[in-house]
Amino acid sequence: SDSAFDSFLVDEHEQNGKWEGHSMFAPFTSGWQQTETEPLIVAMGEGVYVWDHRGKKYLDALAGLWCVSLGFNEQRLVNAANRQLTTLPFYHSFWNRTSQPPLDLAKALIELFTPVKLGKVFFCNSGSEANDTQVKLVWYYNNALGRTQKKKFISRLKSYHGSTLIAASLSGLTPLHQGFDLPVDFVLNTDCPNYWRYHLPNETEEEYSTRLAENLEKLILKEGPETIAAFIGEPLMGAGGVIPPPATYWDKIQSILKKYDILLIADEVICGFGRLGTMFGCEKYNIKPDLVTIAKALSSGYEPIAAVLIGQHIVDAVGTYSNGFGTFGHGFTYGGHPVSCAVSLETLRIYKERDILQHVNAVAPAFQKGMKELAKSPIVGEIRGEGLVLGIEFIGNKDTLESFPAEWAVGAYFGAQCQAIGMLVRIAGDIIMISPPLISTAAELQQIVKFAEAALKGTERYIVQLQMS
Ligand code: PMP
Repeated sequence: SDSAFDSFLVDEHEQNGKWEGHSMFAPFTSGWQQTETEPLIVAMGEGVYVWDHRGKKYLDALAGLWCVSLGFNEQRLVNAANRQLTTLPFYHSFWNRTSQPPLDLAKALIELFTPVKLGKVFFCNSGSEANDTQVKLVWYYNNALGRTQKKKFISRLKSYHGSTLIAASLSGLTPLHQGFDLPVDFVLNTDCPNYWRYHLPNETEEEYSTRLAENLEKLILKEGPETIAAFIGEPLMGAGGVIPPPATYWDKIQSILKKYDILLIADEVICGFGRLGTMFGCEKYNIKPDLVTIAKALSSGYEPIAAVLIGQHIVDAVGTYSNGFGTFGHGFTYGGHPVSCAVSLETLRIYKERDILQHVNAVAPAFQKGMKELAKSPIVGEIRGEGLVLGIEFIGNKDTLESFPAEWAVGAYFGAQCQAIGMLVRIAGDIIMISPPLISTAAELQQIVKFAEAALKGTERYIVQLQMS
């Protein structure tokens, strides 16, 4: 309503109509944007929509940052947070003290994750912290087994696993490394499984997957299998460009990892909790991980929380070690925060009660089909996705796969068009990513298709102009 808007229609950053800048050092924001361009200040949300502080409405086709699966005004989550804040706003989980919500949530997560038998759950506040924890846990585990040389990690080019020192090092994206003296030296990279972009002429998906598995094996043999501790990967690559694994990829990768006794960490930060139409991405691709990272949709983004799900065999070995060495010297003040855990528990209840998987599987096919129609455009190379996640990759030449000149900023232009007409998407170079709330209705998803179609028409015109000039 209008009166709801009045309270947040503030222009305190603005003097005489000119943007005056702000004092926040903004993450993943380039310098000129921080000083010269007014940020989009989001003030209110409802369902799949958010409003900026001027009152303009947007369909948030990225669900915040791939996380707000239940939309922006789920009252049950607010109530769960309120109840917990009222009874016990904080307790930690150090030194065998804790509170009830993390205990209940750990139990619920072990029951929910069915691909392998889990032993325990370690709580963190972000996906990055959880992936750093994975590395320490894997080292601790190999130390427990006396395999003190087995410490290197393998991740994929273009992967995103977070931005702390280790999580950024695990990520295969150069912008996360440049200027930060990263990556650390124990991380190795193997191929990005983007079949469309990297397959050889006449190579089938299966053959491509075989080649990638062979490349992985070569890397392992070159480094020495006794030095490689673990492989980390998302079931479907998210922030790296929404890249579903090619056919037979995970079967082949897993058999190589097994052969050399290398642990598999599944980063389910984006795929987890229904995004692909299964509760976890591991179910969709028959992945049997030793360790799992979860975050984001665990609390529908309402409270910061992440977790490491730990296979029973890891727990068994680590348990022996800590008996010898005492304390597991790792943890965070806010790990297992009772409010975050209470909200997550309520989120899981809602997923179950409303059968979120059934909903995703009901609405996703028409959405994917509608969006994939846009691949007919001469400037679109590929549109790919699963369930309610989708990537659009622009291409300068459909035959040679030559990209548009970077200075044309084609992805940014498309993203700006979307924003102008009322939709928020993720832009990464010439790849656009869409990951709407899981509660999106068929009509709302259709709206995304329509917005994307309109933005695409505008982008095509922009490119024709550039090509003529
Ligand atoms: N892993 C994956 C797959 C992610 O997508 C992200 C965040 N986008 C992270 C880890 C890091 O999570 P956070 O931003 O909570 O540290």
